[in-house]
Formats: sequence, C-alpha cells, structure tokens
Amino acid sequence: MFIDGQWCEAASGKQREITCPADGSVVATVAEGDASDAARAIDAARRAFDDGDWATSSSADRARLLHRLADRLEGQKDDVARLESLDTGKRLVEARIDMDDIVGVFRHFASLAQAHAGRVIDTGMPDVSSRVVTEPVGVCSLITPWNYPLLQTAWKVAPALAAGNTFVLKPSELTPQTSIWLVQALHDLGLPAGVANLVLGPGGTVGAELTTSPLVDLVSFTGGVETGRTIMAAAAGTVKRVALELGGKNPNVIFADADLPAAIDNAVTAIFLDSGQVCSAGARLVVEESVHDQVVDEIVRRAGHIRLGGPFDEQAETGPLISEDHLRKVASYVETAVQQGARLRCGGERAGGDLAGGSYYPPTVLDDCTGEMDCVHEESFGPVLTVETFSGDTRDEAEDAAARIANDTVYGLAGAVWTSDAGRAERMARRLRHGTIWINDYHPYVPQAEWGGMKQSGVGRELGIDGLAEYQETKHIWHNTRPAPAGWFAMPENA
Ligand code: NAD
Repeated sequence: MFIDGQWCEAASGKQREITCPADGSVVATVAEGDASDAARAIDAARRAFDDGDWATSSSADRARLLHRLADRLEGQKDDVARLESLDTGKRLVEARIDMDDIVGVFRHFASLAQAHAGRVIDTGMPDVSSRVVTEPVGVCSLITPWNYPLLQTAWKVAPALAAGNTFVLKPSELTPQTSIWLVQALHDLGLPAGVANLVLGPGGTVGAELTTSPLVDLVSFTGGVETGRTIMAAAAGTVKRVALELGGKNPNVIFADADLPAAIDNAVTAIFLDSGQVCSAGARLVVEESVHDQVVDEIVRRAGHIRLGGPFDEQAETGPLISEDHLRKVASYVETAVQQGARLRCGGERAGGDLAGGSYYPPTVLDDCTGEMDCVHEESFGPVLTVETFSGDTRDEAEDAAARIANDTVYGLAGAVWTSDAGRAERMARRLRHGTIWINDYHPYVPQAEWGGMKQSGVGRELGIDGLAEYQETKHIWHNTRPAPAGWFAMPENA
C-alpha cells in the first residue's frame, strides 16, 4: 500500500494472493489492509490537503502532471496492459485498448483543468466585483470495481488531481496491480507525499472507513447498486458529497426497419464483449416481433461460435468471468430464469474441456422473457442476453411499446435504438430514461462526453465537463470596492 509517500505493508501484516481467473494461478501477493490502514491514509491525505501546496498549485502544473502521466502510460502500455490481463483474465488485446482509453482520459482532464477557472458576474454595480471560482473539494475516497480496474480509476483520479484534491484510492480487492502501478508513477513524476494514497483490502473494513471518516469530503464509487446504497447511507452521517456509478440493465431496442446485419452484429458485441462484465452491456434485447426470429436465431448462431480463452490466447474472442463466486452467481441467475419460464436458446452451463480450470461461462441467450422475470430486472453482469418482444399496429404504438419495455427497469445507465427512420431514432432517444443513448451503434464512448446513470444507476456524472465539476467546490466571491453603510435599519439617534 502507499501512504504518505511511502510503500508499506498492512499494519496487521496480512496479505492476499491475487489469482488470474483464466487458470487460477497466483499472479501477485499484496498487502491486505484494514480500517486502521485506511485511517492512516486518510490522515495523510487530510494533512496534504490542509497544509501542503497541492490544493493551491496552478492548474498549469496539474495539467502538466496529467500529461506526463499519459506519456508514461503510453510508454509502458504493454506492461500495464499485461498486469490488467493477469488480474482480470481479460484478453491482452482488450487491455491494450483500455490503456489507450486511459491515456485519452488523462489528457482530457489535463486540458479541462485549465479551461474552467470560474466566471465573472455582471452585477450592474460598478464598484462591486463578483466572481465565481472553483476550488478542490478536499480529501476524496475513490473506490473502484474489478471489471475495468485502471480505466474506472482513471475516471476518478484524473479529475480529482486536475481539480487539486488529495485522495485515498481503494481498488477492488481482486484487481489491485494497475492501481499499484498508477500511484508509483504519480510518485515518480513528483506528486507531493500524501496527495495520492493507496489502501488495499475489503470493502467491509477499508471501504467502510473511507466512507464514514469525518476527515473525508467526497466519496466517488463505482460498483454494484447494493454497495452504492450502503455507501450513500454511510456517507450521510457526515453529509459527504457522493458520486455513484452503479449497475445497469441496459435495453438494446431493434425495430424491424433497422439495418439488421449491423444491428445483429452489434447486439452480439453489446452483450458478449468482456463476457458481459460491462456496466453498460446491452443485456436486454428488445426486438420488434416481426423480425424476432430472424434477429434472435442469428444472435444464437453467432453466440455459439464465440471462442473463449485466456488473456494470451490469440484465438480467443472473450475471456473468463472474474471469479468462481461470480460464475456461481451468473449460473444461478440463468437457472432461476429458466424456472420462471425463460427459454434457454444457448449456453447455460459452465465451459468444460480445456477451459475447465478457469472461470469460463459461455455466451447464453434467454428467449421469451417478460417484465415479471428476475432475469429482466436484475443485473447478471455476465454473458447472458434476455430477449423481450414488442409490437404495435401503428408506428406510434410500436414506439410506445418499445419505450415502455426499455424504461421498465430501476436502472438507467445506457441503451440503444436501431432504426433507419431518423425521426423515430430521435424520438426514442429522448424517451429512453438512460444516461447514454446510442443510435445505430453500441458501446463507444469518448472522454469529452458525460457518463453516468439515471434512476438507481447512480448519482452524478463522470467524464465530460461535469466529471471535473464533481471534484470542485463552487465559491461566490463578492467584493465591494467602495464600502458604505447598508442603510437598511434605521440608525438609532445618539448611537
Ligand atoms: P462491488 O460493489 O462489489 O465492489 C466495488 C468496490 O466497492 C470494491 O472496491 C469493493 O471492495 C468496494 N466495497 C464493497 N463493499 C463496500 C462497502 N460497504 N463500503 C465501501 N466500499 C465497498 O462491485 P464489483 O463487483 O467490484 O463491480 C461490479 C459492479 O460495478 C456491477 O454492478 C457494475 O454494473 C458496476 N459498474 C458500474 C460502472 C458504471 O460506470 N456505472 C462501471 C463499472 C462497473
């Protein structure tokens, strides 16, 4: 762990083995901290914020640091991608793409750091200067999941530093290696001691301290909705600012008038990319009845040909699930779906043969799903596609039916609509209550655009311009350059 500019073991001396889910091999042994380690790291971050120079450093200096961090990652891309692949089991080629995205995220916030310095208000009073300035929020607890470990971390660390905050980072206990690389890189680049701290360990102890300590000003969390609820409640005790990026149950709506080959191919990617362990995965196919068979038969055929394999298997098209625990959860989700009446079209049983030593679950399609089934409402976070069908006698009825199904979820992270009718595409995009809508596409994102969820998919936004604002306080400074009595209350005589 990295606390106050020093690498250290856990106070308890405990350690944890990190295993690669592709084959169960041990790929690292790291410290396993607890609440006392988290408290030490928070103290260090607090001191660095209150007494150090970082919070008042120039935005140009902070931007330069982020650009140099991006340069370093570009130079070490293959090594860092390899660490990510070993921790997560994801294919090296995907981890490399993640690294390119992360470089883009650092550069985006580097340029934004200098672009938003506040604004001047025209009060109409010549003797008054009124301006709105931004300041860092303070000490930030940054808590991240295992599916895109360094990418999710970059979405938080880059704006936190760009805005002048100090932080304690707690990555998922399953995937710590690239966070270790990150804090070492920041240290090498000259970030003052105490600004960036890293504590490893479980959410129940380390995470609890990070979300309840009165010395923390902001908690930014990415993870599951249950954990998000716990964190929101924990942070309420000291009214911390919270930013939550939670799960999704994302509808991918295909109308009969869509470019079907493109829609089908993207529907396969939407759900089976990274074995469905993507918060914005297109896990709910919502398809117009007249093309149901054509679309679903082809998705099932394609799903059956997807090659599973380990991070360094060049033939593999997707990898394992993160752990045996997670595999069991996905399998039981599919079993429940079948018991509730869903029709299993492919997959549904863990992969055997050469893959039996890893946590592999094949692409799975559940047809004939309805809104009452758990599989339609709950996130599996695995390679499982549910299929719901809609129809309507008129254009408006079809759109109403599709929108009703697509919005029938407590989540609101992302969704897509496939149609060749531009008017329909725009109407649907506005009707869907999700934070990102793709029209005739699925999955791309750019760091310049905000990312985040409506409803129970979260609070706040990452990336874009709002992603920096999460880490900034706004202060209004009113300066009367010609002070005078207010004259509101009568001046008592003989006062
Ligand atoms: P998780 O909620 O189990 O854990 C996320 C992090 O929270 C981990 O670091 C964990 O140790 C920590 N944590 C657990 N309990 C805690 C507590 N009581 N207090 C503080 N911290 C605690 O999630 P996961 O299984 O690692 O990740 C998968 C989930 O993340 C999925 O639900 C997925 O949708 C979501 N996710 C969302 C986005 C997004 O952008 N909205 C992106 C990636 C993942």
